[in-house]
Amino acid sequence: MNSNEVAELLKFDAEHVWHPYTSAVSPLPCFFAESAKGVYIYLAGGKKIIDGMSSWWAAIHGYNHPRLNNALIQQHKKMSHVMFGGLTHEPAVKLAQKLLNITPPDIQHVFFCDSGSVAVEAAMKMALQYFHAIKKNNKCKFATVRSGYHGDTWNAMSVCDPVAGMHSVFAGSLPKQFFADKPKIRFGEMWNEKDINSVENIIVKHHNEIAAFIIEPIVQGAGGMYFYHPEFLKRLRQLCTRHDILLIADEIATGFGRSGVMFACEHAAITPDIMCVGKALTGGYMTLAATLTTANVAETISSANPYSFMHGPTFMGNPLACAVACASLDLITENPTLEKISEIETQLKTELQEARNINSVKDVRVLGAIGVIEVKENVDLKKIQPLFVENGIWLRPFGKLIYTMPPYIITKEQLHTLVKNMIKTIQQINE
Ligand SMILES: *Cc1c(COP(=O)(O)O)cnc(C)c1O
Repeated sequence: MNSNEVAELLKFDAEHVWHPYTSAVSPLPCFFAESAKGVYIYLAGGKKIIDGMSSWWAAIHGYNHPRLNNALIQQHKKMSHVMFGGLTHEPAVKLAQKLLNITPPDIQHVFFCDSGSVAVEAAMKMALQYFHAIKKNNKCKFATVRSGYHGDTWNAMSVCDPVAGMHSVFAGSLPKQFFADKPKIRFGEMWNEKDINSVENIIVKHHNEIAAFIIEPIVQGAGGMYFYHPEFLKRLRQLCTRHDILLIADEIATGFGRSGVMFACEHAAITPDIMCVGKALTGGYMTLAATLTTANVAETISSANPYSFMHGPTFMGNPLACAVACASLDLITENPTLEKISEIETQLKTELQEARNINSVKDVRVLGAIGVIEVKENVDLKKIQPLFVENGIWLRPFGKLIYTMPPYIITKEQLHTLVKNMIKTIQQINE
């Protein structure tokens, strides 16, 4: 594509196309991606940049992967889509099998849906239908911790952090939920029993109204890129069981190895009643998510009027998405994925240390294939993003957080370049 064509498209984009969390009238400039392969995104004009974001946790095998491409090509020759009401097909059944093979044994049922937010909505509806079925209709609220993020749709939004989230804009229409303090003891620190007090108080006081407690296991993602102590999750699991509250684990960001184990709940050796997966499920190829639950929840929901789970998206179980997800899960299980993630973790822990010497840096933390540099002042995206690109890397900071979760296929050298230029850019901004 020549530069005039690109300039025209960029102009139309700026004038008419809405980007995530962006103004329609004065959007920040966008870079023009022409193609992507492996860890590289190729921009118009020929510049190639190392992707440090995995396109928001999703592209774990890198771009344009031959196995994933082939899964799509083979499937589209058979059929791209059929409705899932009354019909089923190999990609959906195989994907459910593969998911149940890597999730805890008590998880037995899979509900496919379109996106992470929809998976969260489905999880919340499951919890409500569960208590409807056992005639505890007063249990219709949700509890969560502060600083969480669970998506942009209505009820998902209601359990996002009430301050950093979108509550101020939508306050009048959002259902009111219960918010406990965020976990204060970090991953790797000494556990202190006090950390669970706030959760315990809410649960003990309000369990008659609470259907489910929803939480991102171990890693709070969009709410602060923060890693908390596994004991918190263990205690939460115990409290939920004791007080007849379902535990929903939102593994949409953490699923498929990102935190160093296949699912972050494994850090605490707990099984949730309902779990949501998405993001990396298709290896970053297209949108697909799933809400999984136990035999107990599924059977209870199905035991009373309306005897069905009341949800069914048009594109449920889309064969193309399921086929590419199957290929992605095959890549994860055939390769020593967790070992690779552990190598990435070690390298991030070593090489990110240098950032601590920069004045503007407040904290550096790493878990699995997630590396975070927290700075003292909010980052000016308009200034820093072009510098990242100039330095050959793709990062998308928010607030005070400059972070990377690179594709698992990144080589040692590529990761070295990524981290080196991440630090260099922060130094340049600081000067
Ligand atoms: C991204 C995310 C979601 C929402 O997923 P979408 O596919 O963007 O709707 C929900 N929960 C968590 C933890 C996420 O990281």
